[in-house]
Amino acid sequence: MSKTSRSKVKSAEGTTFLQRVLGKARPKTPIEDHNMTVLVIAPHPDDECIGCGGAICRHVQRGDRVHVVFLTSGELGLKELPSEQAWNIREQEAREAAKILKLASVEFLRCPDWTLGDAIPLASQRLAPVVRRLVPELIYLPHPQEWHPDHKVTFPVLMGALAANGSAAPRLLGYEVWTPLAEFHHVENISDVMDTKLKALGEHRSQISQLDYVRAVRGLNEFRGAIAGRCRYAEVFQELAIP
Ligand SMILES: [Zn+2]
Repeated sequence: MSKTSRSKVKSAEGTTFLQRVLGKARPKTPIEDHNMTVLVIAPHPDDECIGCGGAICRHVQRGDRVHVVFLTSGELGLKELPSEQAWNIREQEAREAAKILKLASVEFLRCPDWTLGDAIPLASQRLAPVVRRLVPELIYLPHPQEWHPDHKVTFPVLMGALAANGSAAPRLLGYEVWTPLAEFHHVENISDVMDTKLKALGEHRSQISQLDYVRAVRGLNEFRGAIAGRCRYAEVFQELAIP
């Protein structure tokens, strides 16, 4: 990709050439100007770190309260163990990561790993009271174009929970884990908190011993930083509309 002087030229709409090419990204961050309650929905333990660990740190720095709810406890990430034992290991790893991220709370709904799509009503039913109790202004969740089936269905799970509650729709931001976003709307400069993000990810020991997630995350966030954020490391997010 070649960088041209056109990237500096503002269009009539106030966006630069580069912003329009890169999925209509705007330089604004998702961080608002008052303290918020933020909810992160993670299909599995580790998605919260990979997808939005940097944004979580930025929210906490500003005084926002960040809660994470895990739809499954990722029992298939430890296939050789009975489910109960795998849950305990992965939930403990998530609690250790939560301490580093300074989360206000973590909750585990223990829906079925990999077959979450067959349990959407159950997951919505378990998620609804969490959303009702916390009343988040902003919810992070995997964007619906992710290839992983549990990530893909997190959006309909949340839609079911919001419908059951009948509450006002919060703002939704989609994060990327397995499938990089083709279009995004927000860029978060996470350079200052990248070390904390990677340290939290490192607590998911049972997973990083199987795949080099640290390398993958560093690579993706560095790519986003170079192109989208013009900084060292960045995370990008897609604004999700409620149908
Ligand atoms: Zn996942």
